[in-house]
Amino acid sequence: MTELADRLHGVQQRIAAAARAADRDPAEVTLVVVTKFQPVDLLQELYDLGVRDFGESRHPEARDKAAALPDDVVWHFIGQLQTNKARQVAKYADVIHSVDRIELIEALDGRELDVLLQVDLGIPEGGSEGPSRGGAKPSAIPFLAGRIVESDGLRLRGVMTVAPLGMPVVPAFSALRMVSERVRGVAPDASWISAGMSGDFREAIAAGATHVRIGSAVTGPRSTGL
Ligand SMILES: *Cc1c(COP(=O)(O)O)cnc(C)c1O
Repeated sequence: MTELADRLHGVQQRIAAAARAADRDPAEVTLVVVTKFQPVDLLQELYDLGVRDFGESRHPEARDKAAALPDDVVWHFIGQLQTNKARQVAKYADVIHSVDRIELIEALDGRELDVLLQVDLGIPEGGSEGPSRGGAKPSAIPFLAGRIVESDGLRLRGVMTVAPLGMPVVPAFSALRMVSERVRGVAPDASWISAGMSGDFREAIAAGATHVRIGSAVTGPRSTGL
């Protein structure tokens, strides 16, 4: 077995173990392998190992990879998205995890697309703090959810977060779960919770994550970027 296959299978086993430890069915948790900055050959290898959910964070890199891989891949766009690139990204992305403002929803309106609302748990209500990793503050989320529900074609699937730097992850993920419950008050089917990366997916799964976005633990270190 290759090193890549070893790492992939190791992560799959750790996800399943984390789910069972939380009394959850491992099949409820989707592994999205984050491949930003990685070459297409590596994505093709992952595809050959059975990976179908890929996470990318940059346009046009993501577009070029989507064009190079088979059609049955599910492309998850997880990076911050500029309003003027939204419609281009919607052409190849199946799910956009990083919807966080009204302008973006308006730019995407009219597309058939799964979207998640990105929540910034690092912003205290009424303030701003630290370098933002994208996302809307929790109090803004129900309004944004309502706007997506009224759109023509956008399907609100749930919420996403990147655990804020310098804050313990357990309270962050439990705060996300509360936001998820409020969103389900507006859109009952919006049950996805996208949370957890290489360093914190165990805690995210314990808090109810349905989608974990894992890069380096599967692919090895990236040369650039986050
Ligand atoms: C890069 C990235 C990940 C994956 O991070 P790793 O620490 O490599 O697992 C997950 N989510 C987002 C939004 C990212 O940008």
